[in-house]
Amino acid sequence: MIRFLFRAAMGAALAASLCSGVAVAQQGPKRAITNITGDLYQFRNNFYTSVFLVTSDGVIATDPFNADAAKWLKAEIKKRFNQSVKYLILSHDHPDHSSGGEVFADTATVIAHENAKRTIVGEKRPTAVPDITFKDGMTVELGGKTVELSYVGKNHSDNMIVMRFPAERVLFAVDFIPIGFLAFRTLGDAYIPEWMASLRRVEAMDFDILAQGHGRPGTKADVAAFRGYMDDLYAAVLAGMRAGKSLDQLKAGIKLPKYEKWGMYGQWLPENVEGMYKQIRMHRRPG
Ligand SMILES: [Zn+2]
Repeated sequence: MIRFLFRAAMGAALAASLCSGVAVAQQGPKRAITNITGDLYQFRNNFYTSVFLVTSDGVIATDPFNADAAKWLKAEIKKRFNQSVKYLILSHDHPDHSSGGEVFADTATVIAHENAKRTIVGEKRPTAVPDITFKDGMTVELGGKTVELSYVGKNHSDNMIVMRFPAERVLFAVDFIPIGFLAFRTLGDAYIPEWMASLRRVEAMDFDILAQGHGRPGTKADVAAFRGYMDDLYAAVLAGMRAGKSLDQLKAGIKLPKYEKWGMYGQWLPENVEGMYKQIRMHRRPG
């Protein structure tokens, strides 16, 4: 029930705005720490979620979201676990996930993909500039525990990494594998063929629980489900374009009833169609 309510509430507020926080401004931010398994926890700030791992030598934290949320998390980690954050790992550069990293800079080494650092510096993201970057992968060890960081290719941004906690059998992946949700709006900062390839790479990895950036954790099966959605969206838009339909006709006409129970189906399907249309148009020579 709690899961259901969280999801229903997320859907309602996502309809208003994913990033502005307008829908929750009146009642203050909803923040929570919940155990996923073992010493791995989910940190929630409104409609954003990340994970952190507690070890005897300190904490490995991930996306901080913003400075206020990061200050809250820092205090809670001190209070609940009497620990400080030793590593802060950013999933990707987008400011709604990466902001606030400077709050942990007094104790933490900040890690991100090399392309994320380039964009964080270039766009002047309000976060800590990563201390350590990598290209393909790296392993972080702390207090006898491990997280494996992998670049699985471009998908939603060109600098997304996934974080695998092998002992916990959990993979943390943000924004490019929504669980029971459509993709975000018009697929901004997306690389479609590479995105599909990166989903296949994730499916080949060894884990049971999929933790995400916007809500409850799911399972490995959610990766294939979302890949199926993207495949179906691509096929429907391409077929419509080959039939000579306009973008407006496609936005009004394409229905994917297999996914009608997914979050934001009614609101975001036309926008997903538009995003896919623009991507396909760039790479297609008609006739
Ligand atoms: Zn993003």
